[in-house]
Amino acid sequence: MRRTCIGAAVFLVAMAVALMAGSEGKEPPVKNVILIGWDGAGRQNVKEGLEAGYLPALQRLKDEGSLVAIDILRTTDTKAGWTQILTGYEPEKTGVFSNKRYEPIPKGYTLFERLEKFFGPSKILTAAVISKKVNMGTDGPRIVPLKKGQKAKYQVTLDGKDYEAFPGKPYFHTHGAVDIFINGLHWDKDVGKKALALIEQNKDRRFFFFVHFGEVDRKGHMFGENSSRYVDAMKSADTWTGRILDKLEALGMDEETLVYVTSDHGFDEDGVKHFDAPYVWLATNDGGVMRRGNREDIAPTIMSRFGMDLDSVEPALDGKPLTQPFTPPIW
Ligand SMILES: [Zn+2]
Repeated sequence: MRRTCIGAAVFLVAMAVALMAGSEGKEPPVKNVILIGWDGAGRQNVKEGLEAGYLPALQRLKDEGSLVAIDILRTTDTKAGWTQILTGYEPEKTGVFSNKRYEPIPKGYTLFERLEKFFGPSKILTAAVISKKVNMGTDGPRIVPLKKGQKAKYQVTLDGKDYEAFPGKPYFHTHGAVDIFINGLHWDKDVGKKALALIEQNKDRRFFFFVHFGEVDRKGHMFGENSSRYVDAMKSADTWTGRILDKLEALGMDEETLVYVTSDHGFDEDGVKHFDAPYVWLATNDGGVMRRGNREDIAPTIMSRFGMDLDSVEPALDGKPLTQPFTPPIW
């Protein structure tokens, strides 16, 4: 009788452990995530860099984890791109369709805000360290008086006077909810140094960092997608990505920190613009990433690695974690 009781108890404990671990055999939540952006780095350019051996940090991530294709189905620009990557939503839910058609991302929709809410503000440090300012801005909506006879895209009339209206920038609601939000750092070295300092200062805390390098995009616009300056900028982003990986290793944090590196869009072949540049990529030390996907799949991947229940996210996420098989619905 006694033996049976012990046997049943052991069985029940084993069941409970299995249930706590999750019915899909999920791994325990990761401690930290660093999402690194190489703004404007196309897939073909990264492929060439890996083949020629001048992107050793991406190669390192590929060897340790995964490198997958990310296909963009929407506008190939900065505002649309990072909004989709940082929220997991299509533009219909965020209002951010492109660099020209946008509004502030609704309150609570970004990864930063989701994680602050999930863990509790004192239990996680969220930070954004961003190269760009114009397309990664935090300004509120504003109106500017119109001169007599002048016409504007968005116009309002107040007390008989005409004004041009400008929408708030995408991160207007977000930036106050993130512990550290810095944009306009411009140079890779300033973004990179700030990221290294944040890792060092917060090594004992749980964190989520978004680190955005902008020189690839800038050099693409200035010198073109086939220029040596564009390639140099990719090498620069790779060097700083490598320094971040080195810092994690030196502090013994590489096992507890998932690093995802991705891009918001590529460049038009041999061009200085990115009107039609939908082929990008995701490199990560997360060996569980097992399929190609879209920009909106990246936020759900990170949320699920932090242990969040994606089904409880409101409104429903458009993206799906890249760590799980997914067949898009036919309608
Ligand atoms: Zn650009």
